[in-house]
Amino acid sequence: MNSLSDIGVIRDILGRHGFRFSKSLGQNFLINPTVCPRMALESGVDDETGVIEIGPGIGVLTSELAKRAKKVVCIELDSRLMPVLNETLSDFDNIKVINADVLKVDLRKIIEEHFGSLKVAVCANLPYYITSPVIMHLLESRLPVESITVMVQREAALRLTAQVGSRQAGAVTAAVNYYSQASLLFNVSRGSFMPAPNVDSAVIRLDIRNKPPVEVHDEKEFFRFIRASFGQRRKTAANALSSGLSLPKEAVTAALREAGMSENTRAESLQMNQLALLFECLTKQCK
Ligand code: SAM
Repeated sequence: MNSLSDIGVIRDILGRHGFRFSKSLGQNFLINPTVCPRMALESGVDDETGVIEIGPGIGVLTSELAKRAKKVVCIELDSRLMPVLNETLSDFDNIKVINADVLKVDLRKIIEEHFGSLKVAVCANLPYYITSPVIMHLLESRLPVESITVMVQREAALRLTAQVGSRQAGAVTAAVNYYSQASLLFNVSRGSFMPAPNVDSAVIRLDIRNKPPVEVHDEKEFFRFIRASFGQRRKTAANALSSGLSLPKEAVTAALREAGMSENTRAESLQMNQLALLFECLTKQCK
């Protein structure tokens, strides 16, 4: 098979199949030949790994993953790409393509059915319109996955891999940090795609933790607390929490005092253990 990152090859295949890019499905295909081999390598997949790929497009990353992994199952929403993938991936016998929406399929069942006792990794050049929902869905479902290596917009990559307690941190940083250890692997310029998007990208890797870094009495409520804390970034944590959770300001300031924090504390300055402590103090105050 010719190189699937070659513009001429892509134009030829897509032209023969009468394919037109869909902006609403986030279809920006990779044309930089160095990106997929590097992504596949740095995702750490090997011949004992089953890989789930989200949004294979014409299969440029899929084929790099299939060279290294035992098996690749890719989930593509656009049914127009099924005949294309049939052609481009015909040299491989370890790839299964599923025509479905990644947010609607039963990933646990797919893993059980296709991967047996293999280690499982997720690897994808994500459609940007669903970056956070896909990442949070993968993390919150507590699937038996060891790592998630994904390309996202650079700004999202910086937010997702920021240190909790730094200015760049947001609610999603804390949520991702609860489930995984995040690192930024490398940057990818907008010119690496066809059509070129308006922003640059980066590849990040999330290594799933066996155990969260903090213990809280109610995970769901803790995430509601985190969303409220970071909800209004210009406000102090006290104001953000009392308006976000509809609580009396006195209860929140009393919780801050009990946690040994100033009334002017801002959520982005709090470490994970401080967020958990404040959450528990606030729960006590509101009983
Ligand atoms: N992997 C290819 C590449 O790197 O060139 C294509 C990446 S493109 C950024 C995103 C892909 O995700 C497209 O093929 C798009 O059709 C697919 N996609 C969009 N929404 C999806 C969804 N909800 N579930 C599965 N695939 C989706």
